[in-house]
Amino acid sequence: MANSRFEYVKNFELSDQLLPNTWVVVRIDGRGFTKFANKYSFEKPNDKRALELMNAAARTVVTEIPDITIAYGVSDEYSFVFHKTSTLFERRASKLVSTVVSTFTGYYIYLWSTYFPDQPLSAPLPSFDGRAVCYPSLENLRDYMSWRQVDCHINNLYNTTFWALIQLGGMSATEAGKQLDGSFSADKNEILFKRFSINYNNEPEIYKKGSVVFRDYELVEPGTHNIAQEVERIAQPAQLSKSQAETDKKKRTKARVVVEHLDIIKDDFWDRRPWLLS
Ligand code: ATP
Ligand code: ATP
Ligand code: MG
Ligand code: MG
Ligand code: MG
Ligand code: MG
Ligand code: MG
Repeated sequence: MANSRFEYVKNFELSDQLLPNTWVVVRIDGRGFTKFANKYSFEKPNDKRALELMNAAARTVVTEIPDITIAYGVSDEYSFVFHKTSTLFERRASKLVSTVVSTFTGYYIYLWSTYFPDQPLSAPLPSFDGRAVCYPSLENLRDYMSWRQVDCHINNLYNTTFWALIQLGGMSATEAGKQLDGSFSADKNEILFKRFSINYNNEPEIYKKGSVVFRDYELVEPGTHNIAQEVERIAQPAQLSKSQAETDKKKRTKARVVVEHLDIIKDDFWDRRPWLLS
């Protein structure tokens, strides 16, 4: 680029390089999704379509940014973990965060009609904020992931009970809130079971555990993955011919960015997948 007398303004840009050799977590969160969920009549406490849309968008982010090894999502948030050796964008926080946020948001909007075919999006369009945090040790990173999953569990048990009291018990939101004020997990489990014959353990895993997205390196054949075809597959699953679907299935198996609903607090998940943190 040509030098000019204006170029000094570049010096006003401050460095926001993240600490080397640390696990970088970029967490995004939907802006004003309480309102957004009402606007599109999300089912309470959990709208499955909305969660699956979040997962589909997260899956494309992980697929497009190979430096991300694992992601965890619940409600309107997703945490993306960059491997500690990543040097993407020289580890500049604003570049990492803005790229994750805009890639995610772009796909969330692009894939919306697949999950909400009867409800076209209208302004204001969904948007997400993002932040980056460095975790210097594996213990810190594991604790971060556990923190989000515990949060998922606590919120989901509360919300499941809260909405059962309203939808099945005929209470007002105020009454339900009052009933649960100061209650312990055991109390909520008991309300669900005794009053509504709901065994919380039998609730869907996606609600209880949230969603984990990760690359299954073992089956990946480098250079064979095509993101554009993958996105088309997600966007128009009904329009695929059988042979096309089979071809895509093979590609998908090779790429293997998977979405699961597993316990990531216990060691087992990590012990079985040593490539994630090595
Ligand atoms: P902020 O902009 O500060 O994040 P927010 O309204 O998005 O505000 P959050 O704490 O992020 O607040 O909460 C997310 C909201 O979105 C909650 O009210 C939650 O019930 C709703 N929500 C998100 N996903 C779903 C879903 N799949 N089904 C039902 N409700 C959902
Ligand atoms: P980076 O990811 O580092 O930003 P880049 O390829 O986007 O890489 P830029 O320096 O941002 O690099 O340059 C933008 C590129 O996009 C240039 O090659 C430019 O010619 C092209 N481009 C952008 N807008 C237009 C446009 N309206 N018409 C033609 N070319 C365009
Ligand atoms: Mg440019
Ligand atoms: Mg927020
Ligand atoms: Mg939010
Ligand atoms: Mg949130
Ligand atoms: Mg550019």
